[in-house]
Amino acid sequence: MNLSLAITAPSASVSSEAFADLHLHTLFSDGTFSPEELARRGAQFGLVAMALTDHDTVEGCAPMAAACQALGIEFIAGAELTAEFDGHEAHLLGYFLDTRQPKLLETMKKFQTVRQARIREMVSRLNRLGVALRAETVFALANCQSPGRPHVGRALVQEGFCASQDEAFERFLKKGRPAWVPKFKISAADAMALIHQAGGLAVLAHPGLNHCDHIIPQLARQGLDGLECFHSKHSATQSDYYLALALRLNLAVTGGSDCHGFSKGKPLIGGVKLPAVYLDTLKAARRAQPAPTP
Ligand code: AMP
Ligand code: FE
Ligand code: FE
Ligand code: ZN
Repeated sequence: MNLSLAITAPSASVSSEAFADLHLHTLFSDGTFSPEELARRGAQFGLVAMALTDHDTVEGCAPMAAACQALGIEFIAGAELTAEFDGHEAHLLGYFLDTRQPKLLETMKKFQTVRQARIREMVSRLNRLGVALRAETVFALANCQSPGRPHVGRALVQEGFCASQDEAFERFLKKGRPAWVPKFKISAADAMALIHQAGGLAVLAHPGLNHCDHIIPQLARQGLDGLECFHSKHSATQSDYYLALALRLNLAVTGGSDCHGFSKGKPLIGGVKLPAVYLDTLKAARRAQPAPTP
């Protein structure tokens, strides 16, 4: 069997198979598409299901649900939580979230407050370097509760301090560069508990980018439900490796493009098409999970 069948080029010929994209961002975090635009593009690629996984926010889920419904696309409410395990940053995707769950909303609020303070700190550092960027310019451009480095990068380009987003990251924003400020993270155990409390399933995002595979069995023992085997930045070899690992650890298999719109060049939506059979397995895992504790 070709385990990498989920990876197809955006221009792949029409197939009778149904596909989903379970990793997508909108302008409610650091993507550039509105939920309506994202859903429209999903429909163009023939997606039957889409999950919204904005960073540390679920605000876009209600408009995205409406947009998907209007186009006959199944919608899964999600988020990508910034977490850490044993000193390693780990992004945890939550799926089928109750987006009104109080503890979830409280934690999101905390994430957002810290993200906004972090923007001010990054701008202060830039100012000390002689770059006269204003925090208000970044907030106006971001126009969302969950701003991040890409917004600072875009503001640096908009104000003429950098020629491109890549230059902004290379000179100032990448880890170890002078305006880099570490991000607030919760423990992976807390993130998984929070997702479960909100009735959701917890999936480790893009393991191929994390370079810490040894944490995956430990996360699985702590309640991880799934592994994002298919991702725009995974090679076919990596996807095969994570598929085998998911099978071995009894984890559900997910995949998505991690599309951020035009934030990082060309939109990635359509580049990863997850066969819908994997979504069925995810739903089965959801049905099998114990009811969340209030
Ligand atoms: P933050 O969550 O604020 O630390 O920003 C992390 C986000 O920055 C990632 O989710 C990516 O969307 C984005 N990012 C990382 N590296 C780059 C880059 N070189 N160019 C543009 N965006 C990037
Ligand atoms: Fe992002
Ligand atoms: Fe991520
Ligand atoms: Zn993402």
